[in-house]
Amino acid sequence: MHSLDDTIAAIATAPGAAGLAVVRISGQQALAFSDRAFSGTGALVSAATHTLHHGWAMRRVAGTGPAVAERLDEVVAAVFRAPRSYTREDVVELSCHGGRLPALRVLEALIEAGARLAAPGEFSMRAFLNGRIDLAQAEAVADVIHAETDAARALAVAQLAGDLSRRLRGLFEPLNDTLAEIEARVDFAEDVGGIEVPAHALDCLDAATTELARLVEHASYARAVRDGARVPIVGRPNAGKSSLFNALLGEQRALVTELPGTTRDRVSESVEIDGVRVVLSDTAGIRDSPERIEALGIALSETVLAECPVAIWVVDASQPLGAADERIAGLLVGKRVVVALNKSDLPARVSDAELSELLGRCAVAEGSAAGGSAVASSAAQARWAVRVPCSAARGEGLRELRAAILEVLGGFAASGLTLAVSNPRHIDALRRARLALERASLRGREGAPGEIVAIELREGLAAIGEVTGAGVDPELLDRIFSRFCVGK
Ligand code: GDP
Repeated sequence: MHSLDDTIAAIATAPGAAGLAVVRISGQQALAFSDRAFSGTGALVSAATHTLHHGWAMRRVAGTGPAVAERLDEVVAAVFRAPRSYTREDVVELSCHGGRLPALRVLEALIEAGARLAAPGEFSMRAFLNGRIDLAQAEAVADVIHAETDAARALAVAQLAGDLSRRLRGLFEPLNDTLAEIEARVDFAEDVGGIEVPAHALDCLDAATTELARLVEHASYARAVRDGARVPIVGRPNAGKSSLFNALLGEQRALVTELPGTTRDRVSESVEIDGVRVVLSDTAGIRDSPERIEALGIALSETVLAECPVAIWVVDASQPLGAADERIAGLLVGKRVVVALNKSDLPARVSDAELSELLGRCAVAEGSAAGGSAVASSAAQARWAVRVPCSAARGEGLRELRAAILEVLGGFAASGLTLAVSNPRHIDALRRARLALERASLRGREGAPGEIVAIELREGLAAIGEVTGAGVDPELLDRIFSRFCVGK
């Protein structure tokens, strides 16, 4: 499946009119095949590594022999000899003129010369299979290319440079040594019966667990940085959701009206807050309504809320809190919420204490469901709701609102984000690794025999290995690299 024997070629640049386009060829025959499609001052097969050669991309005219050939484009060939190349194989990059046809014709000439068209991501896959980069780094290539904000780019570049890989290797090695030690003791004590795991080995597991927890601590924020975060705006009709949505977008987008319940559809737009792409959606007002279409909108709000861990709750602070607000607060339990106390230009009719009481009641409901105490609930309340007075009509409090949105997303200054796990596949694997190591330590401290601890530890190591690609199965590789574009 993942043959490294043949020589692959593809256009590495985006199609369209441009100054340059690059055709890339990699494999054992890369230089020989390039020579069949290139005419310069000397043969590329005898060129030194990391050299540039000016010449013409050529196509042989069928049946006429090597003497008659058609010029396809004027090109520069860059020669990279194995192992000092992107794939660790011999690579030639032919820079031709941009536009639809030159690169296409050059690619065809390379295919005629014997190369095979590369599958999506195949160059990066070879870089991984040949051990130049690990899987986390290969995936970072895709993230760098798809980054839509500078914060996302910085995160991806750090991963590409191997920051995450190094941290994971630093975790993997001592754990692997610990596993070897436990296994050796188990083998040694086979005749004597099960052996307990020594305390220093369990300490090593605990240290790794702490480190893994630290790594995924900011995962949800890092994910928001990488993929953008969906943040629905909810609130009872007429609270000012559409007005706030527009104010945050800085343009008239949703319909603002004085009649309650007119925003029936969800309207989504993305804004960038400190390098994080936030997709705001204005939802229909949540309240009990006999009107079917309104009811549909309400159901939509509930569905959207169910999918999003973070929301903006717009409260009309110029009106007393009502049953509709209570219902919304109930839907928001367990989420992290920015409470926008809107209409701050009007006399306030919602006191801090009333709001606290409402939030507290919901948090208590959550706490008691989880068996927590009232004390724990007030801490939970502080964690999940950040209050910001604002006036959508006057555009006041918007800066504070933006800061609060980042805060509930779990954020810290994007510039401080040097190492955070943002890829959902990595987050999942590291969470599983942490759980397995926690179980290993717990079982060990309970006095379980070494064999049992070793089973959990092996599972933890395998999960860490999934991120870097150690022992990862070929099907997963195909799935990961098929999301890349051709030529990458
Ligand atoms: P929605 O139903 O929650 O989307 O509310 P809208 O955004 O349609 O606003 C309802 C009404 O409240 C409109 O008449 C807005 O002009 C008004 N409104 C919105 N924000 C403010 C505000 O900050 N101050 C005042 N005084 N009125 C506001």
